Amino acid sequence: MRILTFTGKDAFMTLLNPIVTKCPHCGSLMSDYELMSYTVFHSENYSDGKSDNGIPDEKMVSICVECRRPFWRNDAILPGGDHGEASAGLPFAGDINEYLWDFEDNRQLQRIGFYKGLLDDGFHDSDEKEAYLRTRLWWAVNDLLRYRRRWMPPFRPRLILEAIRHNRMNRRLFMSYRQLMQKNLERLMFLYIKGGDADPLYLANMYREKGDFAKAAGIIAKSDSKKDVFFRLLVKRIRRRDSMVFEIK
Ligand SMILES: [Zn+2]
Repeated sequence: MRILTFTGKDAFMTLLNPIVTKCPHCGSLMSDYELMSYTVFHSENYSDGKSDNGIPDEKMVSICVECRRPFWRNDAILPGGDHGEASAGLPFAGDINEYLWDFEDNRQLQRIGFYKGLLDDGFHDSDEKEAYLRTRLWWAVNDLLRYRRRWMPPFRPRLILEAIRHNRMNRRLFMSYRQLMQKNLERLMFLYIKGGDADPLYLANMYREKGDFAKAAGIIAKSDSKKDVFFRLLVKRIRRRDSMVFEIK
C-alpha cells in the first residue's frame, strides 16, 4: 500500500505493509501495519531525538481493542508472509494515541502515566524494549515544555494571558517530574552505553538534561562532529547550564 500525502508545502511518502496481530491476553485478532520506508521532506527534530514529521510514530506497544490491555506488537504478529487479505475486515489495533483521545484535558499526563506504569509493571523483557519505554517516557515529560504555546494572536490580551498561564502550569508540572526524569535518564544512559556505539552528541545531551553539565561538556569535547548544528546548539546550552529540550534548527 503506497500512500503519498501532502500537508501544505511538505510532502512525504510512506509504504505500509498490512499485518495481523493476535492479543496475547485474550486472543483477539487485529489488523495493523508495518512502516516499510518513507522519505521526509520536512521535519522538526529535537535534542532528545524526537522528530515531528507527520509520519505515524513507529509504535511498538499496541492496545487490544477487546480487552484494552497493552502488548508488544512485534511479538504478536501472526506467522506467514502476506497478511493483506487476512487483515481486511479486522478491527484496527489501538495505540496510546487513540486511547488518550478520551482524556481531553490531561492527555500529556496520561501519556507519562502510561509509560511509567508499563515500566513499573516490568512490561519489558529485553534491554531494547526497556530503552523504548524509557525514551517514550522521557519524550512525554519533555512534551510539557516542547509544545509550549508560542503563537500569540495580534493583541488579544485574554488569549495571551491564557498562553502564559498554560506555559507556567506546564513548567510547574515538568518540575514536579524532575526526580522521575533524572532516574529515568540515568537508567537510559546505562542502557545506551551498554548497547555500544553511543552517539557522543546524543549522550552529552542526556547528561545536560539530567543537569550534569561538567560530564556533558567532557563528552562533547571529544566529539568529531563540531560542524554539526546540533553540536553548536548543545555547546551553547551546556555553557548556559540550560537543561531544557530544544528544537535543532
Ligand atoms: Zn485482548
